Amino acid sequence: VSSLAFNLDQLALMHKCLQRSEELVSRAFAIPALPSLQYPYEVATASDLAAHERATKALAHLVIYQRSRPRGLENLYRICLQDEVILNRLQTGSQVDGLSALLVYILTHELVHVVRFQRAEQSFSAKRGVRQQEEDLVHQLTLNLLRQAGASHWEYLDQCYGNPVIPAQRVQR
Ligand SMILES: [Zn+2]
Repeated sequence: VSSLAFNLDQLALMHKCLQRSEELVSRAFAIPALPSLQYPYEVATASDLAAHERATKALAHLVIYQRSRPRGLENLYRICLQDEVILNRLQTGSQVDGLSALLVYILTHELVHVVRFQRAEQSFSAKRGVRQQEEDLVHQLTLNLLRQAGASHWEYLDQCYGNPVIPAQRVQR
């Protein structure tokens, strides 16, 4: 069990950052407002994560579940935020003066993955080398998006590049 989790204020901030990221991503990809049926995802934080959804080094990762719906199987993208890693990163990175800049980066990054996977612009079962290229590309797309939106601290966030690649896992639900 994680020892460090977002408190209620931090959770409320996370929801605000999620709305901001949803706006940025839907505008950038010219798709209907997120969340939408076309892009099924959910966001989980430490208290909701199952053991296999925890990661000790990444800020966040995606776990993809397949679920059946009346119109057939669909992917559900679960964005698993790692509260402890995020909070620790903040303590050591004094240049970001708030949790919000980091959360907007992380959530925008993960939503860009969701849109690209769902549109099959990239496959989550791709080989390792391709996955690394995808990480580089998603990181650059995310930074461009933040820069264009006039977000603060995006230069610092460039250092989040070290976010380890965890291949998306696919699980039957
Ligand atoms: Zn990524």
